[in-house]
Amino acid sequence: MARYTGAVCRLCRREGMKLYLKGDRCYTPKCAIDRRNYAPGDKGQGRKKVTEYGLQLREKQRSRRIYGILERQFRRYFDVAERQKGITGENLLRLLERRLDNVAYRIGFAASRAEARQMVRHGHVTVNGRRVSIPSYLVKVGDIIEIAPVSKEQARFSELAETAAHKTPPPWLEVDLEKMRVQVQGFPSREDIDTPIKEHLIVELYSR
Ligand code: SF4
Repeated sequence: MARYTGAVCRLCRREGMKLYLKGDRCYTPKCAIDRRNYAPGDKGQGRKKVTEYGLQLREKQRSRRIYGILERQFRRYFDVAERQKGITGENLLRLLERRLDNVAYRIGFAASRAEARQMVRHGHVTVNGRRVSIPSYLVKVGDIIEIAPVSKEQARFSELAETAAHKTPPPWLEVDLEKMRVQVQGFPSREDIDTPIKEHLIVELYSR
């Protein structure tokens, strides 16, 4: 499964904002955005005229980077969102939020989506009692997501409940921290998704 393997702080600097890709480090003074908030590269500090297309492209790139998705897969999500009933931009965000790695991150099982993705890939997460190692698995209403029983015994997972207690889960996920178990209550509405994305710009970009 393809994924971006370059320097991630560079992505935040390119987008000019914190994308919180590195977990705890993002909240420390070591954050690259706090130290060098300009685009990477020789011309990073120069002033650039931003076109309408540029704005749309940046919004799409930012969204991809936040959720850790490559272009082709992102485009596939858009195609699915377009075929669904309702507002395409919102459908797109809903699909991204339903990814299993995102759910694991949202409930505090991991400090970043990248860490959550690795957890899933390494088989530490079960859905309805079965191990699912596909980060892009889309959760459904009623799904029960848990840390795999064998993994629960590992030190890093036994401390998870404590870490997750500091995180407020989104309203569409019901969390039982004691059992480290989550049930999907419904799909997120636009108000439930706090990711800083102007999805209408992505729709405009792909509709060109
Ligand atoms: Fe982005 Fe986190 Fe790196 Fe800061 S530390 S630049 S928020 S990935």
